[in-house]
Amino acid sequence: MREVDYITKKMKKQKRIALIAHDNRKKDLIEWVRENKGKLGRHFLCGTGTTASLISDMVKLPVHAYKSGPLGGDQQIGARIAEGDIDFLIFFWDPLEAQPHDPDVKALLRIAVLYDIPVATNRSTADFLLTSSLMDGEYERRIIDFSKRMDRGIN
Ligand code: PGA
Repeated sequence: MREVDYITKKMKKQKRIALIAHDNRKKDLIEWVRENKGKLGRHFLCGTGTTASLISDMVKLPVHAYKSGPLGGDQQIGARIAEGDIDFLIFFWDPLEAQPHDPDVKALLRIAVLYDIPVATNRSTADFLLTSSLMDGEYERRIIDFSKRMDRGIN
């Protein structure tokens, strides 16, 4: 088995949480955010355009809005994860309908795994994550150190 080296990245107590929902899942996400308004209000929130503005309007929480998902919002959020500026993802994607931006969705989920950030793609996982005691403190994520792989000539 290949030896893997990691670098660590510290998540602060105040998490930077991205919220995204496809159209058929927006109602569920808004309901979940409303139920968890108190807890979520302690963190920095952002999201894709329509999801973010719906949450801001309907739940009255500040949510920084990126572009709408089909217009590149998922890619923007993926880039922020890669840059270390987002460390938590709640993404209610639609398991019953193809999206025009499915490649972006796949890329975002890949980046989230690569950077070892917590991801909830349905309500029960979101509930388990948000009630974890790890939400109340710092946490060290482990990210595969690809520079070491490259030094060893492994592609
Ligand atoms: P939206 O994007 O919040 O702008 O609708 C979500 C998505 O489809 O990824």
